[in-house]
Amino acid sequence: VAHRTHCPHRRYEEGQDEQHQRQLKLVRDLQQAVTDHQLFMVYQPQTAAPTGCLTGFEALMRWQHPELGFIPPDEFISLAEQSGHMTLLSQWMIETVCRQLAEWNTQGHRLRVAINLSARDVVDPTLADRLEQVLLAHDVAADQLTLEVTESAIIQDPVMAVTVLERLRRAGVRIAIDDYGTGYSSLSQLRTLPVRELKIDKSFVLGLEEREEDRIIVRSTIELGHNLGLEVVAEGVETEAARQLLANLGCNYLQGYLISRPLPAQAVPGWIADGAV
Ligand code: C2E
Ligand code: CA
Ligand code: CA
Ligand code: CA
Repeated sequence: VAHRTHCPHRRYEEGQDEQHQRQLKLVRDLQQAVTDHQLFMVYQPQTAAPTGCLTGFEALMRWQHPELGFIPPDEFISLAEQSGHMTLLSQWMIETVCRQLAEWNTQGHRLRVAINLSARDVVDPTLADRLEQVLLAHDVAADQLTLEVTESAIIQDPVMAVTVLERLRRAGVRIAIDDYGTGYSSLSQLRTLPVRELKIDKSFVLGLEEREEDRIIVRSTIELGHNLGLEVVAEGVETEAARQLLANLGCNYLQGYLISRPLPAQAVPGWIADGAV
């Protein structure tokens, strides 16, 4: 076996194999992650750009694996999609967020939370019914929820996606296009979608001060959104300069490390009380 380590090509394959083993393990462990409470949600504040007042949160999934430690969502979400576990994860997420909203409601915080739908969810004809059941069970109003959907998820089956999103809209939830500008943006499609909100991807927002191109893209996205009667959210707001620029451009809502990192649920009431906004 020892001679293999002298061969760079072989080493590369072993590295790949390790990666593959890790992925297999993660996929195998996903189901247990749900039942063993290894998954949890964190909540990142969103504020009104002109006033800085809190308007809501984005709920983001986290996985603390008992042996492998923290697994980033960019890694396990795509594995869950590929392995057919995503419906289970999304159902857990919807249930968890609605239970959390109900708890905050009873504490006098009637908050709005945005959740991320996967490509699978967007073409699942049972989603609207399942969502309505959970909302009803926890006595949470549909207008407390925003569903974030990416363009790349919609593009896979636009006809089915429009049907599902239309049902969700009728159920009373708000729909936002996530990562706007990174996918195959089709204006004609935007027009036909029951969307209320455009979310500018952080890749444009992070470079706002340095790159003139990014400023042009952000400015025209805000204009486009407003001309279509949509509200515009910017994520990845890390600096005061970016905040100022976005506010001046008329962006409606801001989200980013400047305002706050994603918070564990228990920290949310305290954060609101501190008036950190
Ligand atoms: P996303 O939906 O685009 O989420 C925004 C990501 O940007 C989050 O990363 C957030 O923590 C990060 N972010 C927020 N503000 C800043 C900032 O100022 N600077 C920088 N550099 N980053 C910022 P996170 O939590 O690692 O999530 C990554 C992706 O994983 C999400 O991207 C989303 O696509 C996916 N994801 C997370 N939770 C869920 C979930 O519950 N369901 C589904 N389907 N996908 C999820
Ligand atoms: Ca999102
Ligand atoms: Ca995003
Ligand atoms: Ca993203």
